[in-house]
Amino acid sequence: MISDLLLGAHFQDKACLRLHMIAIVQQIFRLLPGKQGIKSDAVQIFRARAKHTLLLADRARHGWSATTACRLCGEQEESIAHVLTECRELADVRPGGWPTVPLNEILWCGNRVAMTTAATIMRKFLRRAMR
Ligand SMILES: [Zn+2]
Repeated sequence: MISDLLLGAHFQDKACLRLHMIAIVQQIFRLLPGKQGIKSDAVQIFRARAKHTLLLADRARHGWSATTACRLCGEQEESIAHVLTECRELADVRPGGWPTVPLNEILWCGNRVAMTTAATIMRKFLRRAMR
């Protein structure tokens, strides 16, 4: 079950977890409307909020990776903060002046532009890291 995979460790009651997940994903889908890439953007934001991304820092926390070093630059831990705001190998992907607000606000504030930009950066990172 995907709910078990994504958030199971944080919730004791599985029925409560499912309701929580449905509410979160519906909320994010409403915030990121559009014809193309919405599900992808919403899923990226959902994963970032839940700290269940495909990044090595999250994977190592679950024992699924032996290393946390960034797959692009190799200089720092491959975390959400690193990918969204620090990794020099993604400098060409981030818009000028990014980030305009602190990381937690990007993921949680409900600002469509900030969340879509964060989702785009995450997707481009994963595409490059998995080459
Ligand atoms: Zn990096």
